[in-house]
Amino acid sequence: MATPSSASSTRPQLQYLRDALEDLKSRHLYFRLRILESEQKPIAVIDGKEVINLSSNNYLGLTTHPKLRRAAIDAIRKYGVGSGAVRSIVGTMKIHMELEEQIARFKGTEACVVFQSGFTANAGTVSAILGKEDLIISDELNHASIIDGCRLSKATIKVFKHKDVADCQRILEETKNWNGHKLLITDGVFSMDGDIAPLPALCDLAEKYNCIMMVDDAHSSGVLGRNGRGTVDHLGCHGRVDIQVGTLSKAIGSIGGYVCGSRDLIEFLYHRGRPFLFSTSHPPSVTATCQAAFELLDSDAGAKLVKRLWSNTKFFKRGLKRLGFDTGKSETPITPVMVGDAGKTFEFSRELFNEGLIALAIAYPTVPEGKARLRTIVTATHKRADLRRALEIFERVGKRLAII
Ligand SMILES: *Cc1c(COP(=O)(O)O)cnc(C)c1O
Repeated sequence: MATPSSASSTRPQLQYLRDALEDLKSRHLYFRLRILESEQKPIAVIDGKEVINLSSNNYLGLTTHPKLRRAAIDAIRKYGVGSGAVRSIVGTMKIHMELEEQIARFKGTEACVVFQSGFTANAGTVSAILGKEDLIISDELNHASIIDGCRLSKATIKVFKHKDVADCQRILEETKNWNGHKLLITDGVFSMDGDIAPLPALCDLAEKYNCIMMVDDAHSSGVLGRNGRGTVDHLGCHGRVDIQVGTLSKAIGSIGGYVCGSRDLIEFLYHRGRPFLFSTSHPPSVTATCQAAFELLDSDAGAKLVKRLWSNTKFFKRGLKRLGFDTGKSETPITPVMVGDAGKTFEFSRELFNEGLIALAIAYPTVPEGKARLRTIVTATHKRADLRRALEIFERVGKRLAII
């Protein structure tokens, strides 16, 4: 098999990269990209093999929805394939504004700004609104894009234990005389464990200690709340969260990220959000796709998709538990299957794939060392027969590897 060491030549100044890759291999942390050869669907062809797909974030099956496809094609016919500029020059098309208004209405906020991705939405927002005199209080399992945004802001960062409201309060008490602005920030649903943030309690703290409150709802939009409005809706925190981030890349089925909040916040980001100012806006096809997605989501058909997502989630989670697997603290469609050892987890994933199922192994540095797991996500478009077959494969391989 061709490996990077036989396939490429290494110049001396890059030898350290080769060494790092060798180190990853020796620790079973090296991976090869898997190639999707079909559409992104519950049954997909990956590396030439047809498998049950339990690894996409395509919660509602919208990546291939006929209405979204049609919207994208129509937009290409009408507006071409690119926007040709950053938003603040001439790259703001009318449909960009319309999508933002649509999302703000959906979320029940004054305004919204769309970024190129959820990653740039988080990183661009946190780094824009805070500076080096400010303080960030952040859950230890927050997404990498939040962590990068915090670092870029140069603010002081204090991390509280995962979902630990008391620990968060301890930090806020210790810093209660802080002079600068304070931001309390959390994922709504945590992307590797599938658990939900204690949002009402965190909002209480944010109010008590005068913090800006920010939630990243990447994995909750389209999943939790009425028609998938997210954790703020699900947990009844309307009006208490200053900044709601979401992604257009997961349940919405396309690509992009958005920030919802007050008109002032959004106008400020128009002026200071660096990805907004310095990176080209979405092509019209992406924007039109997202418009069609929100229209669908906010209809009876959307509510039905969310309902099916949850009934599939419950069916699959119950099945895994009944077989004796440890599904961690998951409360959402993200269902980890805990293994622990990284090498064993990769072997589990490989064996499942050979039997016709893809569930990726997640290990350090994405999750802490010793907490390696498979990560599964079912979608609204998986059929019960797919999920039954998936559970059979899990049982067979899990027993063979003595995981259950
Ligand atoms: C996926 C994810 C993002 C990034 O969203 P993209 O649109 O894929 O860039 C941000 N935050 C969380 C919690 C995520 O899971």
